[in-house]
Amino acid sequence: MIMHTPSRHPTAPIRTAEILCVGTELLLGDIVNTNAAFLSKRLASLGIAVYHQTVVGDHPERLRVALSDAFEGHGRPAADLVILSGGLGPTYDDLTKETVAAYFGRDMELHQESLDRISDFFTRTGRVMTPNNQKQAMMPVGCEVFPNDYGTAPALAVSDGTKTAIMLPGPPAELIPIFDQLVIPFLRRYTDGVLISRNIHVMGLGESTVETLLHDLMVSSKNPTVAPYCKSGEVRLRVTARAEDEDTAAAMCDGLADTILANPAISPYVYGVDCENIETALVRLFTEKGLTVASAESCTGGMIGQRITAVPGASAAYVGGFVTYTNDVKIRLVGVNPATIDAHTEVSHETAAEMAMGARERTGADVGLSTTGYAGPGGGTEENPVGTVYIGIATRQGVETYRLYYPRKSRDYIREAVASRVMLEAVRQVLGQESL
Ligand code: ATP
Ligand code: MG
Repeated sequence: MIMHTPSRHPTAPIRTAEILCVGTELLLGDIVNTNAAFLSKRLASLGIAVYHQTVVGDHPERLRVALSDAFEGHGRPAADLVILSGGLGPTYDDLTKETVAAYFGRDMELHQESLDRISDFFTRTGRVMTPNNQKQAMMPVGCEVFPNDYGTAPALAVSDGTKTAIMLPGPPAELIPIFDQLVIPFLRRYTDGVLISRNIHVMGLGESTVETLLHDLMVSSKNPTVAPYCKSGEVRLRVTARAEDEDTAAAMCDGLADTILANPAISPYVYGVDCENIETALVRLFTEKGLTVASAESCTGGMIGQRITAVPGASAAYVGGFVTYTNDVKIRLVGVNPATIDAHTEVSHETAAEMAMGARERTGADVGLSTTGYAGPGGGTEENPVGTVYIGIATRQGVETYRLYYPRKSRDYIREAVASRVMLEAVRQVLGQESL
């Protein structure tokens, strides 16, 4: 009799994937499915097409059906790869591994190395291992185990050559590092070609304007592609190229990105390429130029400071700030002249200017930033309705102020967008004038 050894690895390239998240709490809306978003992003960058995301409760029969739909298509494109999240825990309702093993016709066996790691994990974290934790070391025969340094349930992959299932623990603090450190290198062995993206960060132009300016380029570009994404008051243009290897794909991306950056209608609004966000761009630029910045915030209530200090290394650029919410505090903390407020109100170019200058002078920073406005939903005047905000950027050369208006936007949106915009103007000032 010939013994059948199950294939451990994919033998055909992995091109299509489905994300299958397991957990009744996802269906009840108790938790948000951030794992699906994370996995979709990563698979896109690996060049694996995701046609479906599915959520199924902790129910073995429904999971079995979802798995067979994903792999066999049943009228829709079949997936070469199914990535499952959740249900790898020690309790009776954690059924993912057993259900996948049954689908692949594999028995479960004890994986001693995993058992040792799990008991180590309990010793290290000073917790007591219960007998049901042994269940987490039971693995389908012929699987690939990805050890979990962040929790107890190891991740694993099962493949029959053409269908591959990868199972990941549900908690994002475990799923994310395991995916990045172990699953990506595994998948790279079975994907053909790579996808590389460049993100061009545009602020101060609406999505529809960007779309109009780049419409022809977006339609005609097939590889690389260009796509706009809107995110808290900014537009990101993602340029993505697929090629045999990273260098070729990167060169293709750069070529198209350069064309966009050379467009005079867009370039003044670009604050960075592949930088996480405007605060990162600001910290990077100020640090590079040896400049410092301070803030006096009214309607943003410290958001500028909060966002800048979230960037590692912010202390090289940000000296500190004032939350000057009431008029009295604007006067006392950053030296706004009471007569200015009397004459122009606290929501005005003049007050924003004095706040920015005050923040700069009182801290000794090179640049002072300010925000003052009506974030709503209440308040506002006829002249300055809700959604009107003034911002100031003070430098040694003087102060510039801008009136921003965000009609029908939520308080949260306005505050985020204003903080972003003032940081953008600071970046622009620094880029525009060499000596501040
Ligand atoms: P555990 O060993 O912790 O039981 P598990 O692999 O069995 O892990 P689940 O029990 O399904 O995973 O989920 C554990 C926790 O992980 C959930 O309570 C939730 O906080 C988080 N989680 C699960 N699935 C997702 C998801 N799709 N998106 C975001 N968080 C998730
Ligand atoms: Mg669980």
